[in-house]
Amino acid sequence: MKPTRIEHVGIAVKNLDEAIPFYEKLLQTKCYAVEEVAEQKVKTAFFTIGETKIELLESTDPEGPIGKFVEKKGEGVHHLAFAVDELSEESLAELASDDVRLIDKKPRRGAEGLRIAFLHPKSTHGVLTELCSE
Ligand code: ZN
Repeated sequence: MKPTRIEHVGIAVKNLDEAIPFYEKLLQTKCYAVEEVAEQKVKTAFFTIGETKIELLESTDPEGPIGKFVEKKGEGVHHLAFAVDELSEESLAELASDDVRLIDKKPRRGAEGLRIAFLHPKSTHGVLTELCSE
């Protein structure tokens, strides 16, 4: 499993209706998708910037992961996502055998239909890390 680029940077926001126009202006591009990921209790909004995307995340439930994050730390960078050539249960097991702490032992469906898995910030020097592949 080889990382090929930064797929996106996830930013936790309080309110997409406020954050989207700001980022449209800053990045000089329109938000191209808004999607709710019910399982994660978030609504996401995407922007393309070069080969990378910005993913804004608004919580739909104060008890969800983004709700708790914003409550504790406020708005800000939430996670970094690397595109990898092939994300599988086996490649995750290999990371785990190198003492990388996994949040997801198996790939699951994320926004945009990608296969995703998260690594715990305790074993990535403090960065919540997402791996994703087609
Ligand atoms: Zn993400």
